[in-house]
Amino acid sequence: MKWHYSKRLVLKTEIIKIINPTESYPDIERAASIIRAGGLVVFPTETVYGLGGNGTDPAAATKIYEAKGRPSDNPLILHLAQPSDAESYAVTNENYYRLAAAFMPGPLTIILPKKPTVPDRVTGGLPSVALRCPSHPVAHALIEAAGLPIAAPSANISGRPSPTNARYAIEDLSGRVDMIIDGGDCEIGLESTIISLNRDGALLLRPGAVTYDALCCVLERVEISPAAMGEMTADDRPLAPGMKYRHYAPSSPLVLLDGPDEAFICYIKQKRLTENCAVICSPEEARAIGGENLVLTGDNDDYPAQARRLFSALREADKLGCDVIYARKPRADGLGLALYNRLIRAAAHTVVKI
Ligand code: AMP
Ligand code: MG
Repeated sequence: MKWHYSKRLVLKTEIIKIINPTESYPDIERAASIIRAGGLVVFPTETVYGLGGNGTDPAAATKIYEAKGRPSDNPLILHLAQPSDAESYAVTNENYYRLAAAFMPGPLTIILPKKPTVPDRVTGGLPSVALRCPSHPVAHALIEAAGLPIAAPSANISGRPSPTNARYAIEDLSGRVDMIIDGGDCEIGLESTIISLNRDGALLLRPGAVTYDALCCVLERVEISPAAMGEMTADDRPLAPGMKYRHYAPSSPLVLLDGPDEAFICYIKQKRLTENCAVICSPEEARAIGGENLVLTGDNDDYPAQARRLFSALREADKLGCDVIYARKPRADGLGLALYNRLIRAAAHTVVKI
């Protein structure tokens, strides 16, 4: 068994660069034919890189789980070319089309009851399916050329930070997939917002670039699940199953510091006298702290820039090989809620009040 597993993972991975899908259409076609033939292709999206396979083929779903080392009860998102394609795979409703009109294509995933066309392997055995229409031109062209829904989780080894550029996808998945498309840096840098629709309203399962406030402008009632706030549910079976696993985590322990600007600078300066630590901080904070092992993120109130940088910063900080990594706890509002949700898991809930 072990031999069989390792043999499957030694693939020759072709790496190609596509910036403009119209100019590179033969490459898009080749990638699409790999998907149609049951193979795996890593592709850029506006959120993070995806690890794609044929979303109607249970064998392709198995390959995705194996390539990622992901538990198979953690379902995959189906990526569609346009919102109306959902009719073939899910039981849609009015709220789905209201959200689609406002946010699709874009960084929003909607969960609906699934139709039998979606294999149980793709949904981890759940009766529901997650659907998203990416706005990235390469992702869109690939899905359209494949002519089928592409099942894709983030293109990282399970538990590691999601890749926001091709370099990190190559680091994790070279030899495990047939092709990696390098489409440059991801514009958003955090995975999609996930919302589950039911007859009574909607439940926000994972915060992302489509914020809670934005969703509330379209739907009458949106609840926030405890998992979205970074909390675990009591029975350890969260509604978004991915939320129960250790996630986005660097190998050095990450500690979040909760307090005002001056306290943060003071705390770090003090710690650096005795500890071998890396610090994820804004350029302004880096100037105040000085010295080595500082990994830059966006300016203090620039949440979009912090989101773009977060997963790369975690990987860069990890590579410094320090005993501990410090970062600031973001305010949990707007896009800050998505940053907080990722950081609190990466830190395994370690927060120090300063
Ligand atoms: P990733 O693609 O790595 O961002 O992971 C996909 C996320 O979507 C996981 O956290 C899953 O738990 C979530 N997901 C996918 N399908 C469903 C579903 N049917 N119900 C709830 N969550 C889902
Ligand atoms: Mg993921």
